[in-house]
Amino acid sequence: MDFAAIDARLAALEACLETTVPVGLEEKLFVGVDLGTAYIVVVVLNSLREPVACAMEFAQVVRDGLVVDYTGAARIVRGLVGQLEARLGRKLTHAAIAVPPGTGERDCGTHRHVVEAAGLEVTAILDEPTAANAVLGVENGVIVDIGGGTTGLSVLEGGRVVYVADEATGGTHVTLVLAGNYRVSFEEAETLKKREDMQAEILPVVRPVIQKMASIVNSHIRNRDVSAIYLVGGTCCLKDMEKVMERETGRPVCKPANPFLVTPLGIALNC
Ligand code: ATP
Repeated sequence: MDFAAIDARLAALEACLETTVPVGLEEKLFVGVDLGTAYIVVVVLNSLREPVACAMEFAQVVRDGLVVDYTGAARIVRGLVGQLEARLGRKLTHAAIAVPPGTGERDCGTHRHVVEAAGLEVTAILDEPTAANAVLGVENGVIVDIGGGTTGLSVLEGGRVVYVADEATGGTHVTLVLAGNYRVSFEEAETLKKREDMQAEILPVVRPVIQKMASIVNSHIRNRDVSAIYLVGGTCCLKDMEKVMERETGRPVCKPANPFLVTPLGIALNC
């Protein structure tokens, strides 16, 4: 696995949150919409599948993979798509989306309708680990996706997902622990959690939550021949959390420089 190339691609996407790469008027664009528990992210790639624009918004319209506020979700996606269209000077017409593994047909339909309400035709509905693996290219190992609400894991053998699981405990729990420890509001704790200068101080505070995430992973891979763990999802941005995960699981842990954007990028790659 060429981690340097993966990191360069993710860094280019991150830069596209602030800047826009010009595209041709007729150029084919690839769009991915990630409806998450904590963030909605829209990624646009050019005909070479390189990032050209990206927009995201904090949103609490999805819970456990289900859309719980349809109107709110549709409004946010419409807003993000509108922003990107203005930046690119182009209409966006198609998008791929992703859902947690095991999401039923009806719930997939709701995700689709949210995106269609923003004027995009949905060309593909993927499961999230498959999307993440479009970026990572894991042949054998486990992708652990720690987002806002849950720790999800997908075991890959020969490049194919052979086992999935998803359990409560994610970034929201980390934030709640910080809010309690520092006696601040959830919003303040959310900001604190992402401050680079606070990372060394907060790791010991949130270590028990990371240990809980590791115990979830352990319980699912105990009897499996898993050679390495690959971390994705916003919560894995916590500095050195991979070291805790490595110690608790006894397996090598790989983490891209920006684990937050792996799944959104992978969704767009499958458009
Ligand atoms: P889910 O996968 O549970 O549906 P989601 O797709 O919204 O949720 P992500 O976008 O992968 O999940 O991650 C969101 C979580 O990541 C939030 O809890 C957020 O606070 C956390 N997060 C984002 N950036 C950082 C950061 N720099 N440091 C620590 N946590 C972060």
